Amino acid sequence: MHWRITLEAVDPIGDEYRKEFMTEKNLDGLADGKLGCSIDDGKAVMKEVQKIIIERQLDLWVRYCRVCPTCDGLLPIKDYNQRRILTIFGEIPVRYPRLMVCQKCNPACCFTFSPAADICKDRATPELLELSAKLGAKFSYREASEVLATFLPDQSARAFTTLRNRTLAIGKRIEEAERRKRWFEALNYPDRKQLALALAGDPAREFVFNVDTAHIPLVKQYGGRTFEAVVGHCGRGGRGGPPGPVFTFEGTKPRELKAVAALALKRQGYIDQGEITVISDGAECLKRLASMLPQPVTHMLDWFHISMKVQPIAQLAATVPKHMSSFEGRIERIRWRLWDGQAGRALSLIAKVRQDLSRETEPSIWARRADKLLETLQGYIRRNKGSVVNYAERYRDGKRASTGSSPDDL
Ligand SMILES: [Zn+2]
Repeated sequence: MHWRITLEAVDPIGDEYRKEFMTEKNLDGLADGKLGCSIDDGKAVMKEVQKIIIERQLDLWVRYCRVCPTCDGLLPIKDYNQRRILTIFGEIPVRYPRLMVCQKCNPACCFTFSPAADICKDRATPELLELSAKLGAKFSYREASEVLATFLPDQSARAFTTLRNRTLAIGKRIEEAERRKRWFEALNYPDRKQLALALAGDPAREFVFNVDTAHIPLVKQYGGRTFEAVVGHCGRGGRGGPPGPVFTFEGTKPRELKAVAALALKRQGYIDQGEITVISDGAECLKRLASMLPQPVTHMLDWFHISMKVQPIAQLAATVPKHMSSFEGRIERIRWRLWDGQAGRALSLIAKVRQDLSRETEPSIWARRADKLLETLQGYIRRNKGSVVNYAERYRDGKRASTGSSPDDL
């Protein structure tokens, strides 16, 4: 069966326009369920429609641009250019003129310009770029280009490198826009002081930065370079509240860190009022973040990281040799002291336990392992002594104490 599809339009200046094309659809395979249009039919029809609409749009655009703004005469056409634009519904060849400036108004000037040359400079429509980037960010590039090729015309499943380039290009643009925004961000807070928020019991008075550093080793495409990235949330309110939007950037430069933090605070509605708390893993660059924000700022060690260092020792305690049966209880006491913010008392107990372990004349593998884990915990707490806070009190007050994301985390 032949199908004639007709497109009719009336443009803004009243010109009517009509174009038609044919498509085939017969009864082959109907008994097997081949009813209606298939994906391939849809692709072919949409590509044809797209071609007709784009042709008309560009034609109208050129007609507008051809009118001389001074004398209302038509600008002369010098020649035509051609290129292809990849759209959601296919790769469409476009032909548009190069116009000369008005020879009546500027007879001495032979300057030319192409009014349609700036349209889709990337040779792909922003919609297609955005869709590619969205899929490219969710799936592998190969899978994403297969999905695109399944549903859209002129997309090759094999061209996943194109999709990768598009995704990376969009990523770079977003990053550049963010960087520009950060550059213009006012970084000097007025006298670096903040005012107390009037509502004493309001959980929304606390602005919490949960920040962490990520180490991305030996990236192949960048000649085996190693990257340091800062990843975090800036949220508002107490325990159980939304963690807030994620912010992330490559590198740990102080200026960038400060600008990112300032923007994140502003987005959470910070206007020089409230309490600011930075929760981190104790990395030096993140400790510096606390000093860059409007003072006073509380910097605290993430309970999640402390707990992750105590956990293996507690597990080891389950297999403690008989003659050291007090070990398990002492590890629990260390945990509670840390939970109560008593870093000094926790450290002295760790030192005592380590001393007892070292008294063994022939230390077993178990004792050596326990000592090693305690040494790691000891070093960690010593380096971050000032940032161990009273987690129990924060917990009771309904405040956040950890970057853990599940509701059971603190
Ligand atoms: Zn003119």
